[in-house]
Amino acid sequence: MENLVAVQGDTKIEEFINFLILLKVCMNSELQQKIDEISSYILGYEDVVRSIVTKVYENGCCINTWNKKISLHNWEPESSCIIWLGIDKVDTKHMMWDLLHEFGHHLDGRKSADYKDNDFIEQMREINAWKNADQEFSLYSILQKDYENYLDYKTKCLKTYNLTLEDLND
Ligand SMILES: [Zn+2]
Repeated sequence: MENLVAVQGDTKIEEFINFLILLKVCMNSELQQKIDEISSYILGYEDVVRSIVTKVYENGCCINTWNKKISLHNWEPESSCIIWLGIDKVDTKHMMWDLLHEFGHHLDGRKSADYKDNDFIEQMREINAWKNADQEFSLYSILQKDYENYLDYKTKCLKTYNLTLEDLND
């Protein structure tokens, strides 16, 4: 009887392990699809895209692309929040800066909806998201030649929140 229980227990554990393996395979295949898709828009940066997209997924967020200029981080549904990555860009590198910035919002953790009537906190959210983006940007030597491009884009985005690069140094 004890053996039977043990065998039954093992079968359940085995089923559960198989389920986890299947789940991992599915997640890896979704991850790979995202890496392939986003790399196809930002040519020549596959290693960076792979690293950033993997980090996004490892941090419990996922990415969908949409045919818009803007990108955003949506906390709904809470079980798997989403970065909506705008692919309607003249300069495709801006997609990567958006990805870094929206991932920065994810790491920041504050939801825009909670502070939409509070400009100060909205600005703090933006500053923190860019600080997180800066930190991630600095990890990739291949991106350093694009620093001016990144800086211009960041400056333009900050301006829409009445912020300047100096605000990031406070
Ligand atoms: Zn933002």
